Amino acid sequence: MIEDKRVTEAAPKKEQRRKFQAIRGTRDLLPPGTALWNHVEETAHAVFGTFGFGEMRPPIFEPTELFARAVGGDTDIVSKEMYSFAESPEPNDPKAVFVKKALDLGLGVEVDDFEKAFGELSSLATISLRPEATASVCRAYIEHNMQQLPQPQKLYYMGPMFRRERPQKGRYRQFYQIGAEVLGGVDAPAIDAEVIEMVMTFFDKLKLPGVQLEINSIGHAADNCRRGYVALLKSELEKVKDKLGADSQRRIEANPLRVLDSKLEHEQPIIATLPKIADHLCDDCKTHYAAVKRELELRGVFYKENWRLVRGLDYYMRTTFEITAQGLGSQNAVCGGGRYDGLVELLGGPPTKGIGFAIGEDRLILSLQEAKDAALATGNQPPFVYIAWMGANAYAAAVRAAKNLRAAGIRVELPPVEQKFGKALERASKLGAQYALILGDNEVAEGTWTLKTLADGTQQKFTEPHLLDFLKKL
Ligand code: ATP
Ligand code: MG
Repeated sequence: MIEDKRVTEAAPKKEQRRKFQAIRGTRDLLPPGTALWNHVEETAHAVFGTFGFGEMRPPIFEPTELFARAVGGDTDIVSKEMYSFAESPEPNDPKAVFVKKALDLGLGVEVDDFEKAFGELSSLATISLRPEATASVCRAYIEHNMQQLPQPQKLYYMGPMFRRERPQKGRYRQFYQIGAEVLGGVDAPAIDAEVIEMVMTFFDKLKLPGVQLEINSIGHAADNCRRGYVALLKSELEKVKDKLGADSQRRIEANPLRVLDSKLEHEQPIIATLPKIADHLCDDCKTHYAAVKRELELRGVFYKENWRLVRGLDYYMRTTFEITAQGLGSQNAVCGGGRYDGLVELLGGPPTKGIGFAIGEDRLILSLQEAKDAALATGNQPPFVYIAWMGANAYAAAVRAAKNLRAAGIRVELPPVEQKFGKALERASKLGAQYALILGDNEVAEGTWTLKTLADGTQQKFTEPHLLDFLKKL
């Protein structure tokens, strides 16, 4: 026997044993609830697959600079909500060696010395947990020269995102998105419509309640299109500035389009009188928008136009959309998306058309849970058999039976120690098993096994192969 020579640390005193809790805004997703998460994700794989999308899995952290550029340094997401930290240097990095040597010599490391040797501290790389994934998908498209593959590339992803926001129902600091992007090729309106059709098909498959799609076109960044409109909007806003709240007043200067986002009751009648972007689109954008609507109709996708649906960044253009669902209170947006033809270029790639969306999976699931038939939506559960075995011979047969049943996709609970018959049945019901397979030494000797249906107490006798057949057909 090998002796364990490790020294075990003395257990901390009771009062020192701190109870840990998940960090504010994060949560554990636990069984059985995770079954619904899996069902949602499997449905996404299946539906997106039928539209020819392939999954990609980008890393969870990236250079802060990537998000600053792609999401926009002035946005709340980048300026306030990102989890960012300095990348600590590799052990052999000259910076690290310098600091270590200085410390070994008993010298403090002055920022000045450090900067003299290596340049500005602020230029040290910082990395951030991703607040969204479009930036990563575009980065990957460039990095892997995907423009040389057949265009467009149709990619989707799913996974956690991180934003330091005020946690509330439907708003978390670690939350999950399922998103897709179409990169490269043309900007035909059929692409915009097909992307929207795909999300709606996905929601339809999940029976998401109260789904509403709103669309708008925000034109493109040119004087005869959105820039002209924004200038007009700004001058109109200045005329009513005194009647607006502080936030909106600030936005008149910084980003007039964002005033249209306002939810303040008293600003609504004022906003209703402002010029609408649809009346100021250039001819190409107008034609594109009309064609997107026709294409949606062709696909039987119902939409509502919302002229106040806007995006604050220059590279967003033309089609924008948002989808809301039922049962979510004020956090009712489950999907946001739109066209962003300038983004890949902004990240150092070739001029590339792009459109995509991101679904908030947490909200999607909340909404499904509010709906009555959500439990049914978790898909077909496999039959669940509890093996009540008694006796050493029976145990060997039970282990073999468990292996066979599991190989056939049946859920099996095999008690690790022998239980009395009554106790076994009690535990089987508690766990929610549909059947108890009764295996005593007698049953094994006779070769006929008893299957008890727990809901009504009826029993059937089977030989081992017949039993497997019976369960497989359920
Ligand atoms: P909101 O206006 O609700 O803050 P957003 O404009 O920040 O949304 P996007 O960046 O477009 O949202 O992200 C797409 C989707 O991701 C949203 O429609 C929403 O369903 C979800 N989402 C965004 N932030 C969170 C969060 N903190 N917690 C949970 N879901 C979120
Ligand atoms: Mg937000």
